Amino acid sequence: MKLNLSMNPHAEFQKPITDDEYSPTYIIVHHSAVDSPDPQFKDIDAWHRVRKFPKSKRGFHVGYHKVIEKDGTVEIARDDLERDCDALGHNFDSLSVCLVGNLSKNDPTDAQVLALGEVLTDWVNEYKIHPTKIFPHRHFASTQCYGNRLENNWATIVMLSHKHLKGSWKKLI
Ligand SMILES: [Zn+2]
Repeated sequence: MKLNLSMNPHAEFQKPITDDEYSPTYIIVHHSAVDSPDPQFKDIDAWHRVRKFPKSKRGFHVGYHKVIEKDGTVEIARDDLERDCDALGHNFDSLSVCLVGNLSKNDPTDAQVLALGEVLTDWVNEYKIHPTKIFPHRHFASTQCYGNRLENNWATIVMLSHKHLKGSWKKLI
């Protein structure tokens, strides 16, 4: 679907949308840019509440559809076909997932990569999204997100090699 939206992020908030209209074309992968050994889902919810990101049907302000904690736990903030709030201009045509941690400084954990591969594989299959349409946030905006140590096609490779990785991705990439 095509939307003609201004650069005011609140214009996107106000745009009504039904599940029928939502057909994700892209998958956008983020990092939280914050290093902590602890789970961050609740922190992200608090940060995004302050930024007035719209509350999801599940009751979270988290702008991403899913968040992957360091231990590989996948937290679901939004239903797949619910609009997200992660990349201006692409809040109605994409699915989004955030790896917690500062991936400009540290690698994601093996558990995160395994979980990411699972999430991406499910989305690619369910919504017929081409694997080359998986992008880091920086593809769409002036940011380093998902961290400057990972190549632009890293998440695509994670998805395509998911079945073969079995938690040993560092040996393969
Ligand atoms: Zn991002």
